[in-house]
Amino acid sequence: MDTQVIVVGAGPVGLLLAGELRLGGAEVVVLERLIAPTTESRASTLHARTMELLDHRGLVEPLGNPACDVLGHFGGLPMELSGPPTRYRGQWKVPQTRLEELLASWALGLGAELRRGHEVRAVREVDERVEVEYVTEAGPGTLTGEFLVGCDGEHSTVRGLAGFAFPGTDATRELLRADVAGIEVPNRRFERTPTGLAIAARRPDGITRIMVHEFGRPAAERTAEPSYAELVGSWAAVTGEDISGGVPLWLNAFGNTARQAAEYRRGRVLLAGDAAHRQMPVGGQALNVGLQDAVNLGWKLAAEVGGRAPAGLLDTYHGERHPVGSRVLSAIEAQTQLLLGGPEVDAVRAVTAELLAYDRVRAHLGSVISGLDIRYGDEGEPFEGRRVPHLDLVTPDGSTSTTELLRPARGVLLDLSGDPRRRTELERTTAGWPGRVRLVAAVAAPDSPAPEATLLLRPDGHLAWAGDAVADPGPALRRWFGTPDA
Ligand SMILES: Cc1cc2nc3c(=O)[nH]c(=O)nc-3n(C[C@H](O)[C@H](O)[C@H](O)COP(=O)(O)OP(=O)(O)OC[C@H]3O[C@@H](n4cnc5c(N)ncnc54)[C@H](O)[C@@H]3O)c2cc1C
Repeated sequence: MDTQVIVVGAGPVGLLLAGELRLGGAEVVVLERLIAPTTESRASTLHARTMELLDHRGLVEPLGNPACDVLGHFGGLPMELSGPPTRYRGQWKVPQTRLEELLASWALGLGAELRRGHEVRAVREVDERVEVEYVTEAGPGTLTGEFLVGCDGEHSTVRGLAGFAFPGTDATRELLRADVAGIEVPNRRFERTPTGLAIAARRPDGITRIMVHEFGRPAAERTAEPSYAELVGSWAAVTGEDISGGVPLWLNAFGNTARQAAEYRRGRVLLAGDAAHRQMPVGGQALNVGLQDAVNLGWKLAAEVGGRAPAGLLDTYHGERHPVGSRVLSAIEAQTQLLLGGPEVDAVRAVTAELLAYDRVRAHLGSVISGLDIRYGDEGEPFEGRRVPHLDLVTPDGSTSTTELLRPARGVLLDLSGDPRRRTELERTTAGWPGRVRLVAAVAAPDSPAPEATLLLRPDGHLAWAGDAVADPGPALRRWFGTPDA
């Protein structure tokens, strides 16, 4: 065995997963076919739940001070993003290139190994291991690991090679998109004209990102990116403006393909990010859902290869993340219809706009878009699977918070009873999970009200269990963190 986990793809999802695996103590090698990181600007929005998860790992501060906009949209209809209280309300503008740079240095700093210029060509599961064949400039090679995770994007090679079914629908409509220098067009958020949809945003460096869709025009079958002439034609048809004098830095076409892997795990091979679900990148959710996959999977897979995972833990990755992906796909499909439908959707748009005037509607849709309503587990359970909110806490050693307690990506049993006898009792209980679960006795800071409960936090920032001051966390500790040490 060369390593414990092989990750294919050093996009944002593969890099975040590599860091999470290292925090869980797993050996990880990332194979990436590109020699150097991509310079395409790609996604630029991080939503509230992703920001919370990055904060759990201390990764928000290094992002600097990204701009934040609380004005989002649903299917192009302006909507203020509200929902459950969070420190990160709104959409945070972080270029994907910057995020990838940060995640790469974080994961490498934690000991992940990144091998660039390695293109995976074959995957085989043999006995208790997975074997990967790759090619480099120097020739072919193989690598074996206990598990393999395909984070290799929407055209995932791993998905195909490992036989994952990928049901869904192909694109029926498309948008043309480009970063263009040397044009002067008005900024447009989501402007609908009688013939189509136009979006333009000028960056401080003078480059303008434009996107255009002609109503009723079907998605083309493409083997290459569209030409600038095609984009110029569509832009003129929709806006009446001539941008033929511009210079495109890059351009592409993207459609409303909606597919999701039927399983996120097949034996020793798993999928995460765009490899697991393909969706139109509307509202910046494509990237965010993928990053959240990585945080859900990392600690579980690390526990599995570390030999400390309880039975079935790794399968909860599919059980928890597949429904989230499927819900996002359906919300994106609704937005696509509102966005790219022609005059036939005007009436639905008008009604939706009326509904968006209601606080509860905005809070509901805002929670879906931001990921703040993601909740794992049984609907009947009042607390299990809920996201852990940021709470300021006071311990005998000083101030802390739930966010800080999650930094090492370990389980935390948080005793908020303030009762020394309860603490002693919980010390005895958690003694069986050293290094896996840390007991912290604290009280809520004055402006951070919290119940006098005992909470079991999972490393991914969701609640494993909550109980009152006499409840026994033992069964939940076994269920999520395995058999106690003898
Ligand atoms: C031009 C463009 C613009 C986009 N704009 C937006 C946007 O505005 N909002 C939004 O939310 N999303 C957007 N997206 C989507 C967003 O970029 C993706 O959701 C995100 O990158 C997914 O991350 P990932 O790590 O799953 O996959 P990727 O970022 O695609 O990373 C996959 C990695 O795997 C590598 N790889 C692939 N095959 C192999 C192989 N066989 N062997 C080794 N390595 C391999 C690739 O080189 C790549 O580095 C855009 C995507 C593109 C292409």
